[in-house]
Amino acid sequence: LEIIKFMLEQDEANVPIVQKWIDKWFWRGYRLLSIVAMMMDYMLPKKIMSWKEAWEMYFEEGGGALFKDLSRYGIRLPKYHEVAIAEKDHYSHQAWSAFYQYSHAAAFHTWLPSEAESAWFAEKYPESFNRLYKPRYDHWAKEAAEGKRFYNNGLPQLCQVCQIPTFFTEPGDPTKIMTRTVEHGGSKYHCCSDGCRDIFVGEPEKYVQAWLRVYQIFQGNCGGATVPEVLDWYHLNNSADNLDYVGSPDEAMWRDWQEQRSKTAAE
Ligand SMILES: [Zn+2]
Repeated sequence: LEIIKFMLEQDEANVPIVQKWIDKWFWRGYRLLSIVAMMMDYMLPKKIMSWKEAWEMYFEEGGGALFKDLSRYGIRLPKYHEVAIAEKDHYSHQAWSAFYQYSHAAAFHTWLPSEAESAWFAEKYPESFNRLYKPRYDHWAKEAAEGKRFYNNGLPQLCQVCQIPTFFTEPGDPTKIMTRTVEHGGSKYHCCSDGCRDIFVGEPEKYVQAWLRVYQIFQGNCGGATVPEVLDWYHLNNSADNLDYVGSPDEAMWRDWQEQRSKTAAE
């Protein structure tokens, strides 16, 4: 940070360069954090704080103070920070929903939140959880109970920049998927957001080279045209590494370990 301040102090021409760098890496880092948001809210057995609370504490408060300091040098808050703030009520839920439906093609298990977790979400996300995400989970739970655990048989469109499926929604409308299309060299490229689109437009030659799994699979470069062939190509052990947590070897191991622990504790 001192080095950045030094650069800003020594030559005004550095201000737009540093700002552009902050804008780009804020958005790239933030998009990757969607996975962290999902892990915090859904995968931790003992939850520390919600994604929304962490975002408010570390970005809105902590980051806000930092950028107040940097404003003396002509640096403003990263571009699209207001989009990130608007997404805090939805981020982890949209990521988990996407991974839940593609669990057969990913190297980890997913599951539906328990009643206690749903109550925790309703408390932490009063604006969004019961209205938008609980009904979806209830629907999937009903399907699972009927022996029809939902797996999406297509593959998701990926963002050309962050490579995350384009499951995020429009900042003002959480019921509408956001995609941005850019043309470059006669081809069309898809981005998940205005933030990723701007980054693509800034360095198109870099991002057109991205090796995107879904498109490689469709082009036949990952073992074949069926799910088992692709899983085999990725060395994924079907039904052990993927699918629902319920009934998986991981679940059996966890139960076993918990039993051993309670036995040891009793002795
Ligand atoms: Zn993206």
